Amino acid sequence: MGEDELHARLKAYEGRPAAVGGTGRDPVNAPMIRHWCEAMGDRNPSYTGPDAIAPPTMLQAWIMGGLGGHPGRSRAYEELLALLDEAGCASVVATDCEQEYLRPLRPGDEVSFDTVIESVSGRKTTRLGTGHFVTTRTDVRVGGELVGTHRFRVLKYAPARRPPKERRPRPVVNRDNAGFWEGVGRHRLLVQRCAACAALRFPWLPGCPTCGSPEWDTVEASGEGTVFSYVVMHHPPFPAFDPPYAVALVELAEGVRVVADVVGVPYDEVRVGMPVRLGFRRYDEELVLPVFEGVAG
Ligand code: ZN
Repeated sequence: MGEDELHARLKAYEGRPAAVGGTGRDPVNAPMIRHWCEAMGDRNPSYTGPDAIAPPTMLQAWIMGGLGGHPGRSRAYEELLALLDEAGCASVVATDCEQEYLRPLRPGDEVSFDTVIESVSGRKTTRLGTGHFVTTRTDVRVGGELVGTHRFRVLKYAPARRPPKERRPRPVVNRDNAGFWEGVGRHRLLVQRCAACAALRFPWLPGCPTCGSPEWDTVEASGEGTVFSYVVMHHPPFPAFDPPYAVALVELAEGVRVVADVVGVPYDEVRVGMPVRLGFRRYDEELVLPVFEGVAG
């Protein structure tokens, strides 16, 4: 089926019912209003007392089907969803809703509602993938009088193909730090030592921050250290990283500090002062990084 034919078939569902003859599970009532206001932190006096009205944004609360789902979904709506499934748009995500309020709802009001398929968009490409927005409009009535409308929009889409698994960023190797990375390649963590004043320094620098001398040699770290500080990364996710994970500032036995992943212990068991031991982990065919393993204490 071509794109034009699909679009024509989708458009034919506009105006057809999505659900008919719905009734609220409970009349508008003070306990639900009270819970809502507590949850929202809304102390508007209009929602309490003998003349209380329901918060307008509760409109959807009075028409929700509960955990049982949508008992009244129409055949037309099922067909529309099936047509989109067949066209490859099998995934769904709710995108937004809009409400209009025509008169306040009060405790005791018994709502009824009908839902119509209001519109089906042309083919749209989003970050999630390509598909069609389906907008339904629910007209909410009390005793036959229209009191509000609730528009609900979903995107039925074909998920975008995921890019191949990304690799971790590469370290920037230059003449000032090449010796460090050469050491990592041999599973040695080398710390610079000033040839003039013997101060150790890390990360690598062209000159001594203590005395300014450009002359240096290296010492190999023993690998013993403790967690000086740490963070647990949850969000945002970066390609090739798998949150949550712990990254620590490790104080080496030699006194300098190194930032690296903490491995071998659950991220939520990392603590300041925890003893750790240097290791090396290969992440791909060309990337090896120093890591620190928690030492059972
Ligand atoms: Zn120095």
